[in-house]
Amino acid sequence: LMGYVGFANLPNQVHRKSVRKGFQFTVMVVGESGLGKSTLVNTLFNTTLYPPKEPPAPNDERPQTVAIQSISADIEENGVRLRLTVVDTPGFGDFVNNDDSWKPITENIEARFDSYLEQENRVNRQKVVDNRVHACLYFIQPTGHALKPLDIEFMRRLHTKVNLIPVIAKADTLTDDEVAEFKARILADIAYHNIQIFQAPTYENEDEETITETEEIASKIPFAVVGSDQVVVLPNGRHVRGRSYPWGVIEVDNEEHCDFVKLRQMLVRTYMEELREYTNDVLYENWRTEKLLSMGV
Ligand code: GDP
Ligand code: MG
Repeated sequence: LMGYVGFANLPNQVHRKSVRKGFQFTVMVVGESGLGKSTLVNTLFNTTLYPPKEPPAPNDERPQTVAIQSISADIEENGVRLRLTVVDTPGFGDFVNNDDSWKPITENIEARFDSYLEQENRVNRQKVVDNRVHACLYFIQPTGHALKPLDIEFMRRLHTKVNLIPVIAKADTLTDDEVAEFKARILADIAYHNIQIFQAPTYENEDEETITETEEIASKIPFAVVGSDQVVVLPNGRHVRGRSYPWGVIEVDNEEHCDFVKLRQMLVRTYMEELREYTNDVLYENWRTEKLLSMGV
């Protein structure tokens, strides 16, 4: 089942309805360049949404602002269609002065809310396209120290607008102990700054298995992830997605090696619908109320 994405694996009524209509799901990736954002997206959705990069020409001008680039793909699995959109934010954190890096990103998220509001207000609401951002993967550089001011600023500005999912990028560059310490430090920083990250919801009367799954996923946040486009052959002949080192192979899909599987479980398998619901019922609704108030409606 290597590379099986898993969104077709959906248990309840809500999901069955979405299955018929097909899903629209939009995920944004934010983080300095080189942290493995494009690779992780390819790994998560088992597509080459992002083809390998050509090296930049020597006299290429470096952009001076954060760009917003959106790519969509239709993925189908067991007869379920997913219209996946990935919003990339190249340039974030890459400049000498990154003070305003969060601004174009906030503007983009709000423009998507605006477009949804405009569609809702139409007389004919048959074909509402939901281009709102349902989740934002925020890539933390694997320094092993603490969050940087840029990380804190971004998350503080965005946490009321989007479901934030922090991940430790390129976790294969840290030891297990370093990852554990870094996670504790990141969570402490997040709590100290009152940053709200996406929490998997828990319901009453939930069965034992679901509660355990929710707890297991929650216990891995911020997910220490490893991405790879490469299939590696292990000495025992098994083919795995992973990264090869002289001392061995880090397997993307092995839960002993990193939290990739748990991240995918949260984003794609278990909580895709909750991410969409929270975006609609809370984040969008709050934005809409504020907007209408400010317009004096
Ligand atoms: P982006 O600029 O954030 O989109 O980063 P890319 O996905 O283009 O990756 C930048 C470089 O990091 C490439 O050479 C990747 O092969 C490498 N890379 C991507 N993911 C990982 C990872 O999890 N671990 C390690 N060690 N390298 C990675
Ligand atoms: Mg990229």
